[in-house]
Amino acid sequence: MKAYQLVGWQQPAELRDVPVPEPGPGEVLIKVGGAGACHSDLHVMDWPAGTLPYELPFTLGHENAGWIEVLGAGVSGWQTGDAVAVYGPWGCGRCAACRQARETLCERAAEIGAAGGGLGRDGGMAEYMLVPNARLLVPLGELDPRGVAPLSDAALTPYHAVKSALLLLSPGTWALVIGVGGLGHMAVQLLRAVSPIERIWREQGFTQPLKRPKKKRRTGDTVPVAAQHQNHVWTYDFIFDATAGGKRLKVLSVLDEFTRVALALACGRSLTSAAVKGVLARLFARHGRPLVIRSDNGPEFIAFELTEWLEAQGAETHHIEPGKPGQNGFGESFHARLRDECLNCEEFWSVEHARVVLESWRHEYSTEHLHSSLGYATPAEFAAAQRRPAALVSA
Ligand SMILES: [Zn+2]
Ligand SMILES: [Zn+2]
Repeated sequence: MKAYQLVGWQQPAELRDVPVPEPGPGEVLIKVGGAGACHSDLHVMDWPAGTLPYELPFTLGHENAGWIEVLGAGVSGWQTGDAVAVYGPWGCGRCAACRQARETLCERAAEIGAAGGGLGRDGGMAEYMLVPNARLLVPLGELDPRGVAPLSDAALTPYHAVKSALLLLSPGTWALVIGVGGLGHMAVQLLRAVSPIERIWREQGFTQPLKRPKKKRRTGDTVPVAAQHQNHVWTYDFIFDATAGGKRLKVLSVLDEFTRVALALACGRSLTSAAVKGVLARLFARHGRPLVIRSDNGPEFIAFELTEWLEAQGAETHHIEPGKPGQNGFGESFHARLRDECLNCEEFWSVEHARVVLESWRHEYSTEHLHSSLGYATPAEFAAAQRRPAALVSA
């Protein structure tokens, strides 16, 4: 049969002729109907040799659906010809995590050395695919497997998010889906299907009019130390780390001091003042601009082009005095936490990988950390309470 295989790291995959696998006891052979191509496939192909614990070659494709072709010995409850989706992450099936259907968190992941079909083991970009255990099959009934394959990944991710929020989605509440792309459009449909929410709000590129006090010019030494409202004072700073092999990683954090929301964690090998400006421009378009922006005297922050642009945007720059990091207490404690909970415990394979991990930590920080200074709310909850939902546009 034909199979699209990864044969060398950082090499294009190849269409090869390989034998049709034979299912052993407990295994199931699927005739592939659809196999989704995902951005993760590009990442997998991109990693340098030695970064992933997978042995080559293997067939790509981790979003799969098809029809049962052959049942291995001992498999019951299924018929040849049944339409099925294949659950993506393959754990051991026996540890506590696997038994809660959380195979992505399998306790024996290191021992297994592969994350699933298309991720270290042969996946679905082939005519047939071997599924190691019938527990990984999801019955499709009348659905056509050819259209269903992406549900096993692109829809499963938002489904997981929607499902964990379901208890909060009582009648009269709203769900906000930001970014209606490959996963987000699934989130909108899932919310409609499984929750009783009355309205779905959507960001359409409109920025909210924010209430701001009348603008007053202030000189540096009268800039208030404590932020009085959202978008009053933002603080931004760099923190350094390294990716695998010791290559430098520079991380830019941007925080709203009043709500404690982490607005951005951007990273790269080198972030110049032009890159900092790019990050700020995106944040201004999305959240509005702060009245004051606080930083230390790093060369990227005091660059004339950046400070001039900030002034033109109406954001006053305030540089803390050299040797007095205490003037940026919140930024300091945020970085300590970022270091403890993320940088010190994650091994980054690449800048791209660091970006994904930092973004998920940033989200977690804003949506899960309770702050005593915010009355034991999370930054996101506290920020939401400051806003006027009427300014959003109905989907
Ligand atoms: Zn995927
Ligand atoms: Zn397991």
